[in-house]
Amino acid sequence: MRNKMAEFLLYSKYCFINNQFIEATLHIKDKKIFKINFGRKEITEIPFLDVENSHIIPGIIDAHVHINEPGRTHWEGFEAATKAAALGGITTLIEMPLNATPVTTDVASFELKTAASKNKLHVHCGFYGGIIPENSNDIEDLIKAGVFGIKGFLTHSGIDDFPNTTKEDLEKIAPILKKYNCPLLLHCELTDDNVPKVINQKSYQEYLHSRPQHWETNAIDLALEIQEKYDIKVHIVHLSASEGIERIQKRKQQTSKLTVETCPHYLYFDAESIPDASPIYKCAPPIREKKNNDLLWKSVLNDGFNFLGSDHSPAPSAIKKLKEGNFFDAWGGIAGLQFTLPVLLTEGKKRGLALEKLIPMLTENPAKFLGLEHQKGMIKEGFDADICVFNPADEFTVLESIIAHKHKATPYLNHKLKGKIIHTFVNGVLVVKESRINKLKAGNLLLKKQNIGT
Ligand SMILES: [Zn+2]
Repeated sequence: MRNKMAEFLLYSKYCFINNQFIEATLHIKDKKIFKINFGRKEITEIPFLDVENSHIIPGIIDAHVHINEPGRTHWEGFEAATKAAALGGITTLIEMPLNATPVTTDVASFELKTAASKNKLHVHCGFYGGIIPENSNDIEDLIKAGVFGIKGFLTHSGIDDFPNTTKEDLEKIAPILKKYNCPLLLHCELTDDNVPKVINQKSYQEYLHSRPQHWETNAIDLALEIQEKYDIKVHIVHLSASEGIERIQKRKQQTSKLTVETCPHYLYFDAESIPDASPIYKCAPPIREKKNNDLLWKSVLNDGFNFLGSDHSPAPSAIKKLKEGNFFDAWGGIAGLQFTLPVLLTEGKKRGLALEKLIPMLTENPAKFLGLEHQKGMIKEGFDADICVFNPADEFTVLESIIAHKHKATPYLNHKLKGKIIHTFVNGVLVVKESRINKLKAGNLLLKKQNIGT
């Protein structure tokens, strides 16, 4: 028998179509946006859902997430992370090659990871592969197996099983990346000894100064050099240092192959308001001073960032050193996957960020980066019925009881945010209904199709 919800009509006065909010009725059929009718259009015998004052936008695509399964499933896992994603209006996640064990640096580990995700995906999920020293021969097979990009570190990654690469390692794989037009994602921090000696490990200011802006800009210079020399796609993940903006923008005027992201926590928190002994805020690169973050915002408002990703990277409280309060021993990673849209909307409102500008940075733009722009990231006829329905005016408080991440510890706890997620559709399935999980396992494993040369 045909599933009753396989075909339905979704109506709002505020549907995000062609970069503006308009009144429309979406006719969803067989997992796709079958037809868009402008205005309110009911059709006899087809279920009609009026979302009233809520807004209909494409499902959010979070291209930077750490799920850590298999191997570190006590940190996070597919079940919890994809549920949290759905509750946050996210319909597609792309997962990093660390911190699962084994790390995703060859086809065997990639297959272990995709197998571990089986029957646990409540939203769509794809993967990146990793470059470490000595796996350059595995990169081509990883790309052929369907990863969306290759990620590398230029400094210690935080886990010993994912050592950082050097310029030489990256140059070795550049021709392969070029052949497949596969992006190289770089964690841009290049360590040197030009940092103050640490006296108090519980001091946030000391932690901040231990990872200075010039680490980021030195690494960015190396990334730009490799990008230019080999004419490959390079993506700078989680930019925190505003000093990096100008050189990135300059290069972006010459090429479309350079892209950059930043994350909600760099835009929402300031170093000045982070208390000592609170490694819940620890991430790398660190959350910087207000003055710096104002410049990040300026760049957001000027279209300086291609997209925004959560960099959700939780760990158990013992590893986050929440009791000890030691920033230097603690795991560096912020948990917040579920709250990306509300966090950005809440802070964005104060900064003059229009929804019309924010939404593409979470949907259409990451879709383009991932090569999914012909099926996801927009409300368009023929596109996948991955849809988020949210109410920008609705306020809620982040309480433990609503957090679906494996670990409830997040710096957003008890914050009041605007932009409640009401429904989430994945492939036309109502995964989240009235802000609660309704139906599971609607997500697909996403594999990147090979794309030789352009
Ligand atoms: Zn990350």
